[in-house]
Amino acid sequence: MARLRDLPSVDELTRGITDPLAVDAARSVLARAREEIRAGADPGDLAARLRAELEAAREPKLRRVINATGVIVHTNLGRAPLADEALARVHAAAQGYSNLEYDLARGARGSRQDHVAALLRRLTGAEAALVVNNNAAAVMLALAALAEGRDVLVSRGELLEIGDGFRIPDVLARSGARLRELGTTNRTRAVDYERAITDETALLLRVHQSNFRVVGFTEQPRVEELAALARRHGLPLVDDLGSGALVDVGDEPTAREALAAGADLVCFSGDKLLGGPQAGIVVGRADLVERLRRHPLQRALRADKLTLAALEGTLALYLDAPERIPVLRMLRQETASVRARAERLAELVGGEVEETVARAGGGALPLAELPSYACAVEEELAEKLRSARPPVVSIVRDGRTLLDCRTLTDGEVDEVAAAVVSVRA
Ligand SMILES: *Cc1c(COP(=O)(O)O)cnc(C)c1O
Repeated sequence: MARLRDLPSVDELTRGITDPLAVDAARSVLARAREEIRAGADPGDLAARLRAELEAAREPKLRRVINATGVIVHTNLGRAPLADEALARVHAAAQGYSNLEYDLARGARGSRQDHVAALLRRLTGAEAALVVNNNAAAVMLALAALAEGRDVLVSRGELLEIGDGFRIPDVLARSGARLRELGTTNRTRAVDYERAITDETALLLRVHQSNFRVVGFTEQPRVEELAALARRHGLPLVDDLGSGALVDVGDEPTAREALAAGADLVCFSGDKLLGGPQAGIVVGRADLVERLRRHPLQRALRADKLTLAALEGTLALYLDAPERIPVLRMLRQETASVRARAERLAELVGGEVEETVARAGGGALPLAELPSYACAVEEELAEKLRSARPPVVSIVRDGRTLLDCRTLTDGEVDEVAAAVVSVRA
């Protein structure tokens, strides 16, 4: 029976070890050993545990995981995986110096916004484009630049919470604009906006109902109606698409459609259905984009060179090979190939093929059900798989662990199989 007073001191346990993390690691190994002894267990070989602790301390904390949840744009798992072409641009831009803010033709200062603006104009039909850190920042910047100290009209049916307790109205209030809510949760009409317009009104804001839908007795004005109303009153219409899309994906509105319907500015995320890095993209009227660009907050919210490189690489794929963008590939993949992966995985690990429903995630297409297939294994493996290398994140349902194959690549099927075999051992 192990006894507390037989435990070595921190000094004794770390003797001869020069690792700068050794003392902290020894403290936590000893703390755990004391708990185990009090619980009547034997803590075992403390030197071996210290070595394991030091090895774990050297592992990256932010690391790659395998997403076997079937949720394609999984915010907790880093949203969109990047295409190889996008990663290559990041590598090239980050490895040495770059022309981030340097105009090579003129040999003078340039703008970091120039690298992606032309691609964004081409892909959306917009006059101008601007990129910041994320879409929350994009919407906030738009309101700060166009409506500070004045009123922004927004429907009560569009005041959503986007996740982790963050609510769009709270973010928007920080812009310094005043939100004027109108209509009701389920029904808002163009005349509600019309009646609310005063001398204090700076713009009309539309927020796409991204992660929820109101069904039944509902009504929201179409973008065209709001655009016509805004134009009559000389006010801009800003459309926060949330995810947004550059190509048709389910019934998600594309940025091009929103602009064509008359929105003056359209904001959307870079790492939701677009399939690129975290970014907030604003496209629309040149004079309005210019006001955003000149606002002091733009300097605080601007995207960094790694983001711009990844975004340029992703946008370039939309011209020639959108199927190389992982998010689009997973969304559009034929169910037969997903099933083939599930069958191969089931064969490798002795699991069962199960029909499932995958999701777009990222607050997009909340009602869309993508037919999918999973390999089902024992329930108790889910927890162990999360500490495999690389960790595998799955879904537990009805007493079984489901490894959904829509969000796995062919290569990852082999990694998941190896992980299942190793955690069973
Ligand atoms: C996701 C979302 C945002 C926030 O976008 P981020 O890129 O995560 O900052 C804002 N508005 C809507 C409607 C969204 O769905």
